[in-house]
Amino acid sequence: MSKAIAMQEITTEQQHILQQHLLSEFAVLKEKVKARLATSSKPYLNDLVEQVDNMNADTLIDSLVHSESHSLNLYKKQIKSIDAALQGMELGLYGLCSDCETALDIDALFKCPTQQRCDSCETKYQQQKVKGFKL
Ligand SMILES: [Zn+2]
Repeated sequence: MSKAIAMQEITTEQQHILQQHLLSEFAVLKEKVKARLATSSKPYLNDLVEQVDNMNADTLIDSLVHSESHSLNLYKKQIKSIDAALQGMELGLYGLCSDCETALDIDALFKCPTQQRCDSCETKYQQQKVKGFKL
């Protein structure tokens, strides 16, 4: 570990831009969820449409927990990662790898604000996931 390398930490201003970006992404996802719920063949899902706007990420994910729709499951995943990033901002942990706490590359964060791990931890994580599926 060399301390000579200065960590390039995310500024408050940069974080604010990314926060706005994540919030608008969340709003877009809510619209997509609503559109998908409205066309569902299950009445309890149709009933959710009106409530989506008043839900926070946790409630929304919980209410979709029994969904078997491929697209809803995908939206759920995206909402989860957006929520994790927003919570990280509140806790002051945003921009750090969730496994090794290295500062993430700021350019990469601007490309993908929901990124949670540095490249090497992400590779390890994906490998473990693949192993997990094989068990
Ligand atoms: Zn890492």
